[in-house]
Amino acid sequence: PEAITVQELANRMAEKGADLVKALFNMGMMVTVNQTIDQDTAELLVEEFGHNITRVSESDVDIDTSEDQDPEETLKARPPVVTIMGHVDHGKTSLLDALRGTDVTKGEAGGITQHIGAYQIQTKDKHKITFLDTPGHEAFTEMRARGANVTDIVVLVVAADDGIMPQTIEAINHTKAAGVPMIVAINKIDKPEANPDNIRNRLLEHEVIVEKMSGDVQDVEVSAKAGTGLDELIEKILLQAELLELKARPDRDAEATVIEAQLDKGRGPVATVLVTRGTLKRGDTFVVGTESGRVRALIDDKGKQVKEAGPSTPVEVLGLGGVPGAGDQMTVVENEQRAREVAAYRQEKATEKRTALAPTSFDTMFNNLA
Ligand code: GDP
Ligand code: MG
Repeated sequence: PEAITVQELANRMAEKGADLVKALFNMGMMVTVNQTIDQDTAELLVEEFGHNITRVSESDVDIDTSEDQDPEETLKARPPVVTIMGHVDHGKTSLLDALRGTDVTKGEAGGITQHIGAYQIQTKDKHKITFLDTPGHEAFTEMRARGANVTDIVVLVVAADDGIMPQTIEAINHTKAAGVPMIVAINKIDKPEANPDNIRNRLLEHEVIVEKMSGDVQDVEVSAKAGTGLDELIEKILLQAELLELKARPDRDAEATVIEAQLDKGRGPVATVLVTRGTLKRGDTFVVGTESGRVRALIDDKGKQVKEAGPSTPVEVLGLGGVPGAGDQMTVVENEQRAREVAAYRQEKATEKRTALAPTSFDTMFNNLA
C-alpha cells in the first residue's frame, strides 16, 4: 500500500494543506501536512472534497502506455523509420537529399522542400519509407537515452575513398547497443580513388560482416552525388523492413514521439512528431511531456496541411501550450481537462525534482537568521 503526505495529496487535489488537516481532524486524526497517510485515508479525503479520483496513485494521475499492447489482429504494416549515420563528410546529408529526390510524390507540393526533422518518400511501387532528417549520433543516442526508440533501421554511410573513421566506429557501437539492424552504404563510388572492397575488409575488424564477405549485413555501393545505387539501397531497406515485420495499430488514439520542437515567431510552439501508433487528427487533445494542447493544424513534410497522420508518418503539430523536448512522448487523451491535469502533474514533478537538487533555500535562510 502506498503512502502519501498530506501536502502532496493537497497539491494533487489543488486544495490547501491546512484544509486537509482540518478535514482529517474532523475524521478523528491528528496529523500535520508533512505526515503521511495511507491509501484508504487518502481516498476518504478525496471523496470528502468531492474529487472523483478513485485511486490517487502515480499511474492514475499520469499516463504511461509503454506497457499496453494492441491486440495482434488490430495491427497493420507500417513504413520503416530509418536513421542515417556515419563519419563527418562521408555524405550523410547528401544521401538524405538524394533519397528525398527519389520520392514519386515530391512534385505535388510545387517543389518546396520542408525541413521538419523527418520526411517520408514513396517508391515507384508505392512503398513508404520514413527518414529522420537529423543525421548524427547525438540525436540517435539522445532519443534513446530518453526511452524513445523510433529508429527501425540504421544506414551506415562510409566514404569509399576514406575508410573506417572514429565516428564510423561510434555509429557501429550505437547501432549494436540499440539492437537495430544496419545497412552499410559505401558512398562516393564515383570517385576514382574509391575502394569499396577495402571498406568491406576494414569493417570485419569491427565485427560488421557484410553480405559480400558472406555475412548477413546488407551492403550497397552508392554515389549520393551521381545518384547511383539509390534504388538498390531503397530495395535493401524495404527488404530489411519486411524481415522486421513492422506493425502498428492505426485505428486508435495516437501516440507519437517528438523529433524536434521550437518556438516559431508566427505560429507559436511547433513540434515535429513521428506517430508511433494510432492516427493523429486535427482537433485531438493531447499531452506531450509537461505540455498539453489541442491539434490546431497538421502539416506534412511537403508543407501541406493534412487532416490526419498514421503510424510512421512525420508531421508538424501546431496547437501546443509550450515547447516540448526531443524524445518526449505525445499521447492523445479524452479531453482538455485530462490533458491539463496530466501536464500539471508532470510539471509539478519536474519542479519537485529541480527543488530536490537545488540547495535547501529555506534551511539556509533560517540558519543565516539564527
Ligand atoms: P556529411 O557530413 O556526412 O553530412 O557529408 P555531406 O553530405 O555534407 O558531404 C560531404 C562532402 O562530400 C560534400 O562536399 C559532398 O558534396 C561530398 N559528397 C557527398 N556524397 C558524395 C558522392 O557520392 N560523391 C562525391 N564525389 N562527393 C560526395
Ligand atoms: Mg551533414
